Amino acid sequence: MKRLLVATKNKGKVAEFAELMEDMQVAWLGLVDVGVSADVAETGSTFQENAVLKARAYAEMTGLLTLADDSGLVVDALHGAPGVYTARYGGEGLTSAARYHLLLQQMAGVPAAARTARFCCVIVLATPDGRILGEAEGVCEGFITLAPAGDGGFGYDPIFFLPEKGMTMAQLNSAEKHQISHRGRALRQMEPRLRQVLAYEM
Ligand code: IMP
Repeated sequence: MKRLLVATKNKGKVAEFAELMEDMQVAWLGLVDVGVSADVAETGSTFQENAVLKARAYAEMTGLLTLADDSGLVVDALHGAPGVYTARYGGEGLTSAARYHLLLQQMAGVPAAARTARFCCVIVLATPDGRILGEAEGVCEGFITLAPAGDGGFGYDPIFFLPEKGMTMAQLNSAEKHQISHRGRALRQMEPRLRQVLAYEM
């Protein structure tokens, strides 16, 4: 069976990718499964650049066809911040809750209608010799709440309000989140390309 690396240390993410494409004849591997612990510096200025950096670097390290994603939260009232710095917002060593409380503080006084934001995700498919075989982007539009609500999901989910659902991302179950999330959308967009590549590559 062909092997495909999902360039993440998060087992949940590998399972999420595999679940969406469960009928695909491929062995889904995470970085832990292939014994890679090296980090790749996310020095790009866009999600796309960082996803390309990660996909190429891990494909080269492992010799495997590799999918990598980069994602984050873009807040209009903060001129696009935290953007590519979402995972590091507020500095090293903060909990997710500390990060989103900081974001709420930065948004103090911003009225409801101006609290527009979006989660973005770019997924890139790369070969060990550095070719980019596919790219997909998913966006999920919403608003930054005044206070956190819900305990599902992760990261900034409790402060991300989805008007069409009338609740935050953290109040959805994982299937509902997958339907509308930036990552779910990017994955579904990548799916046909991945099937094509797996049918013909290698
Ligand atoms: P990445 O691992 O470099 O893509 O970092 C993305 C960061 O964006 C994560 O650490 C989260 O804080 C945030 N993020 C990405 N996707 C989500 C999501 O679905 N919900 C909440 N936060 C997210």
